[in-house]
Amino acid sequence: MVVCQVKFVCQREISLEQAQTVISELLDELRYNGQILGREFALTLTNQAFVCHLVCPEQDAMDSKYFTPIIEEIVAELKDLGIAGPYIEVTGLESQSDFTDVCQSPKGYILYSTFVQSCSPIRCSEHFMPIPLYKLPEVVRKPLIKWQESQAACDQLQMNELSEIEAVMLEQLSLPNSQLSLKGRELLDQIESITGRPCFQYLYRVGGDSFEQETTRRCPSCDSHWRVNKPLFGLFDFKCDSCKLLSNISWNWQ
Ligand SMILES: [Zn+2]
Ligand SMILES: [Zn+2]
Repeated sequence: MVVCQVKFVCQREISLEQAQTVISELLDELRYNGQILGREFALTLTNQAFVCHLVCPEQDAMDSKYFTPIIEEIVAELKDLGIAGPYIEVTGLESQSDFTDVCQSPKGYILYSTFVQSCSPIRCSEHFMPIPLYKLPEVVRKPLIKWQESQAACDQLQMNELSEIEAVMLEQLSLPNSQLSLKGRELLDQIESITGRPCFQYLYRVGGDSFEQETTRRCPSCDSHWRVNKPLFGLFDFKCDSCKLLSNISWNWQ
């Protein structure tokens, strides 16, 4: 991930509110397109210029070649208002997050996210590095961000052990037929039908009665053996190729 400075220059008198509204719209759409990460963008105004610092998945993430029609429309609207930009300057590497996947054409995809993750919830099945959303079919980009928000909310609540709803949140994260999992699967099916590559879904696992029982757990969808010899990416002990599911030995027994 890289940190970019994004600048908008006001070329004529315009109300602050009007300028900020359109810039915020642009930042929202760039987020839904995976060009910028995170949710909070501090915008400062100095000398007729709005400046913000953003985390982006790659050096060229803000390039206009990745813009969607709605982003192009908002950029045109800014121009009409007398606001030039966005001017992008990469200021450095962001050190706390994973590097972006390098594959031009990934062999497969994995839907995986956690409550602390702000990078793309889609990872390469070969390298397990995040793939920027703007490199995925346009139809799934914003829905993936919405899915990630829901997943993060469920994950956060169960991590914080909010006991009254913890069980419900765990079901959402762990069961293949929960609403969250089904929504995720629907998006993966879309990616699969467009790219022709297999798309795997991760199912969270905690609890269970014993290590022995957990290691012999079967695929929750088709009941077949799905244990892998060596954990994939040090994380997934189970993989079902027909259901395209991944999971781990319960965190309670590791
Ligand atoms: Zn890769
Ligand atoms: Zn299965």
